Amino acid sequence: MAGKKVLERGIARRIGDGQTTLAFKDNWIPNFPPNEGVDVDLRCPVCKDADETIDHAILNCEHLQDLWSSLSVPFIAESDEDVCFIEWLNIALTHWDDSNLCLFAIAAYKIWNRRNEVRLGSRVPPLSVFKDSILNLWSELETLQESSDRSSNHQSRPSSWLPPTFNRLKVNVDACKRSDLATGFGCVIRNFQGRVLGAFARRAPPCASVDLLEASAVLVGMEFARDLHCSIIEVEGDCQNVMQRLNSQSRCLSPLGTVLEGGQSMGRKYEKLTGI
Ligand SMILES: [Zn+2]
Repeated sequence: MAGKKVLERGIARRIGDGQTTLAFKDNWIPNFPPNEGVDVDLRCPVCKDADETIDHAILNCEHLQDLWSSLSVPFIAESDEDVCFIEWLNIALTHWDDSNLCLFAIAAYKIWNRRNEVRLGSRVPPLSVFKDSILNLWSELETLQESSDRSSNHQSRPSSWLPPTFNRLKVNVDACKRSDLATGFGCVIRNFQGRVLGAFARRAPPCASVDLLEASAVLVGMEFARDLHCSIIEVEGDCQNVMQRLNSQSRCLSPLGTVLEGGQSMGRKYEKLTGI
């Protein structure tokens, strides 16, 4: 610990009487002149006028004021020396939308990098051209975001499930027929949040008609909803012919008609039958 005091007084030869060294006559402590420590300049390297804090470097340096006002990010002018940067940022986040946040992040990143270049003595572009560089990067990112949104929309188009209104449940039914014997149907019941409340998939009786199979899927789906005590439902299936017939008043004398009548009689309790 004695060495600490030596360092505090400046790194200098302190052994013996200060003039001579007794450790093998070797100057093992560098012989810097007294009081010459590492001098860190705490002033802002950009304006060289104020002490540098995070909020000064990013927001309040007088050299940045024109830049920030030209970028028009809300709440920048509300920063205060008495409020630390993190507190200010937490409040600012409640005032910003995604675009404001993105623009602020890009500007802060570029301002901090420029400050480091100034500190290292590099030549830096004037702040007057900085606005364009910030807006260009922002525009590039927005373009990337839009193209990413477009591609994800494109990928999700086949599953165009739309939720029911908050007081209803949606019953999606579908049937599958690989041969007269290999048949099946399934059903999913979801609420307005898309949460699955019930689902099943099962083998269907041998069936030659796709429409008959689809109609059976609707009927079984309704029975499933009834058994789960779902009161207001929308039934959705992808067989337009079956859904139209279920919603119509005309009678059908084929075996399909028998199944449709079962669906219609159960459907009177419900409000909506739709096809997709
Ligand atoms: Zn400054």
